[in-house]
Amino acid sequence: MSTTENSPATNFIRQIVTKDLAEKKHSQVITRFPPEPNGFLHIGHAKSICLNFGIAAENNGKCNLRFDDTNPEKESIEYVRAIEKDVHWLGFEWAELRHSSDYFELLYDFAVELIEKGLAYVDSHSAEQIREFRGTLTKPGKASPDRSRSKAENLDLFAKMRAGEFADGQYLLRAKIDMAAANINMRDPALYRIRRVHHQRTGDDWCIYPMYDYTDCISDAIENITHSLCTLEFADHRPLYDWVLDNITIDSHPQQIEFARLELEYTIVSKRKLNQLVVDGHVSGWDDPRMPTIAGLRRAGFTPGAIRDFCERIGVTKKDSSIEMAVLENCIREDLNNTAARAMAVLDPLKVVIENYPHDQVEQLEASNHPQNEAMGKRKVPFAKEVYIDQDDFADVPPPKYKRLVEGGEVRLRGAYVIKCHQVIKDVDGKVIELRCTYDENTLGKKPEGRKVKGVIHWVSVTHALDAEVRLYDRLFKVPNPAAEDDFCAVLNPGSLQVISGAKVESSLSTAGLGSRFQFERVGYFCLDTEDSSADKLVFNRTVTLRDTWV
Ligand code: ATP
Ligand code: MG
Repeated sequence: MSTTENSPATNFIRQIVTKDLAEKKHSQVITRFPPEPNGFLHIGHAKSICLNFGIAAENNGKCNLRFDDTNPEKESIEYVRAIEKDVHWLGFEWAELRHSSDYFELLYDFAVELIEKGLAYVDSHSAEQIREFRGTLTKPGKASPDRSRSKAENLDLFAKMRAGEFADGQYLLRAKIDMAAANINMRDPALYRIRRVHHQRTGDDWCIYPMYDYTDCISDAIENITHSLCTLEFADHRPLYDWVLDNITIDSHPQQIEFARLELEYTIVSKRKLNQLVVDGHVSGWDDPRMPTIAGLRRAGFTPGAIRDFCERIGVTKKDSSIEMAVLENCIREDLNNTAARAMAVLDPLKVVIENYPHDQVEQLEASNHPQNEAMGKRKVPFAKEVYIDQDDFADVPPPKYKRLVEGGEVRLRGAYVIKCHQVIKDVDGKVIELRCTYDENTLGKKPEGRKVKGVIHWVSVTHALDAEVRLYDRLFKVPNPAAEDDFCAVLNPGSLQVISGAKVESSLSTAGLGSRFQFERVGYFCLDTEDSSADKLVFNRTVTLRDTWV
């Protein structure tokens, strides 16, 4: 399934578009990505973005970004800005930026047209009564007594709804379709409701707002969208989509095509639920690196290329399935393996004193920033009498086949010398706090003579090292499908964030830019946090481990 960006794998939607273009059904393909600005975009949206923008780009077409802003109570300009930023960051450029609210006047006019054609009516019943009348899957609905209201009366009531003469919820405008339809969406669905809420764009101009199904199809047609791509749950709404467009005076009739939503294991892809995590303080914000949001992934150190690669690998089908987190992690791991500069960092420092190394000597050792990519250059790494190694790289009681440092044993300090441990110093509790070693001065860039030294460990010079806080992230949830739980907050993983405050990193990182990405050798991939890191206090986020260690 894996492909390059230049020759994407085909899928049923690409095939439909290619065929339509070959048959000259359209001169140009036009798609749109239509988020509701009621939260930040998540990895599921990335799938839709890559599909919509990708198909347009591959076919010399256009893709619009359209904010579906018809639920003002939950929407905000903050979300609009965040969504624009995320789409751009993913590497896409919209042809036109639109809002459903751009069409409020036109939508109103089309509703009047439906009323004039006897295809819509104003209903005064309560939401509860309407639900009762709607029937069930096995029972047909019953006509509302208001269904037979005259056109003149409907026109008058609808105008008064708009003029603000009624209370919220007092009336609804409904399509007049078929109360016995097998598809419940066709049993006289609501088109407009009265809702006095300030809108982030239209202010208080409107006190009636159009419903999603009614708005989406007309907005698509106004923009001359050719292929309106949406997720499978809208398949049952397609007859309504087509009904509205068939019954109003508009030239264009986009084709709605449904595809499977992305579900990702151990996380949640729903703006509403992610919002709850933010509001309840389970995460630090929408951009918390544990969040499956684009902003969270970016802050964790993901690249746009890795996310696009992921969307390509998972493909587009009509079958719902849940993707393993490892698929996403492999994409970023591969990308960073190729692109991230190498550096050394010690998360759990253990001091090593090299007794035979000259006191005031400092050697500036040269290290490659990337083992395979010379173009990434070299950097200086200072070496001196005292270095830190990771506690993990010394074993007081070594397990079998242990290749790192032990008392009386040798190990190579990466890019530097072979050292030998002579003495282990412990505190009163028996914890190892310092190692006394010697170094073999003939081993810089050379193998020692007459003996094999297998282990290579990373290190940083004590006097040169910079203090850093390192944040290790794990799955946000304990179970693969948290969305299926009654209370998804009850299955949060309590160990999803581990903060290491006393890490030591090499001095070259003092000039690292916010957001820059590194492979800390033998430790993992990390990124300098864009929000909390400063010159006084470096903060690194772990993007992903070196290998897939999740079990
Ligand atoms: P949410 O429940 O997270 O708010 P939504 O579908 O209501 O999701 P919208 O803002 O309406 O969110 O979605 C914009 C577009 O993104 C829609 O076309 C929708 O189908 C698509 N989309 C949303 N979630 C996913 C997903 N998990 N996988 C694929 N596409 C998605
Ligand atoms: Mg939605």
